[in-house]
Amino acid sequence: MKRILITGAAGFLGSHLCDRFIKEGYHVIAMDNLITGDLKNIEHLFKLEQFEYYHHDVTKFVHVPGKLDYILHFASPASPIDYLKIPIQTLKVGALGTHNLLGLAKEKGARVLIASTSEIYGDPLVHPQTEEYYGNVNTIGPRGVYDEAKRFQESITMAYNRFHGVETRIVRIFNTYGPRMRLNDGRVIPAFMGQALRGEDLTVFGDGSQTRSFCYVDDEVEGIYRLLMSDYDLPVNIGNPHEITIRDFAEEIIKLTGTTQKVIYKDLPQDDPMQRQPDISKAKEILGWEPKVGREEGMRKTFEYFKTLSKEDLEKTEH
Ligand code: NAD
Ligand code: UDP
Repeated sequence: MKRILITGAAGFLGSHLCDRFIKEGYHVIAMDNLITGDLKNIEHLFKLEQFEYYHHDVTKFVHVPGKLDYILHFASPASPIDYLKIPIQTLKVGALGTHNLLGLAKEKGARVLIASTSEIYGDPLVHPQTEEYYGNVNTIGPRGVYDEAKRFQESITMAYNRFHGVETRIVRIFNTYGPRMRLNDGRVIPAFMGQALRGEDLTVFGDGSQTRSFCYVDDEVEGIYRLLMSDYDLPVNIGNPHEITIRDFAEEIIKLTGTTQKVIYKDLPQDDPMQRQPDISKAKEILGWEPKVGREEGMRKTFEYFKTLSKEDLEKTEH
């Protein structure tokens, strides 16, 4: 049986990746320190013999007994309000954590895939963003702790690839959504849906003309799976190119949820990227991948999930 280590396993993406690799017949070793994750996301897997869980902070030396075929390094705060609250841990998990996982991959002869992000493009001056674009990041701005940690992560990954011959993969993930996002993580989809469910107005930051392109989690997981199994070791964008302004998106959510609330405008956070859309030519060509789930279907499924959450979860709000 192939063995895979997944860091950040109790988080949104990590937990879906655990499900996928269990389904593919792998032995899954899940690792997390629960700083932004929740064991609820993986508790359904605890009864399985093919699944084990380690509570561990990956910025500390990582030891896993036995052989390892693959490592997916997904541990990192991912939401702006999370990484603004824990900036040093964010830098550490991208830098020291990645170093530890690459060292483990080298020792075990495992292939390692690291979760990079569209944020490495910063507030992009090239649109849509191709993998060749170097980005436009404010190193000392509040988001710099995340962006630069991820940029360092890519550099050290390529150094282990070139210098130590470790088999590496780099996925640049664009805004992904779906069930198991934390309702209070501050990202725009849980924020708007939580507000609709609590009967609050929807808070659009700035004038709402900034754009994002949202990818449903099942599509993202499929792209990551294909990239891991491919022999391509340079970064690949995985995201949904269907772009929308945040203002229009708020209107879509109002329609979907049937809320009678309105949109209100708040200050735009510093360095909030004005536009974001992946160029996915590479993923199409190399992985034969493109997203299949449209926004309407994906948002409906996500809203169904948020509706099942308890009143207590709903009240835990950052707004
Ligand atoms: P998440 O916050 O739901 O999950 C992150 C997980 O990592 C959490 O369970 C957290 O407890 C864990 N973690 C954080 N620091 C850790 C540490 N030092 N040791 C062990 N575990 C630690 O976020 P997510 O959306 O699932 O993101 C997962 C990964 O994907 C992150 O690396 C993120 O940068 C990347 N990513 C996500 C998106 C997205 O849209 N969801 C976009 C780009 C990149
Ligand atoms: N946003 C918003 N209202 C909110 C939360 C976010 O208008 O309550 C905006 C935010 O300013 C950004 C976009 O929605 O322009 C996406 O934000 P998110 O935090 O989801 O992701 P990121 O900025 O990292 O792409």
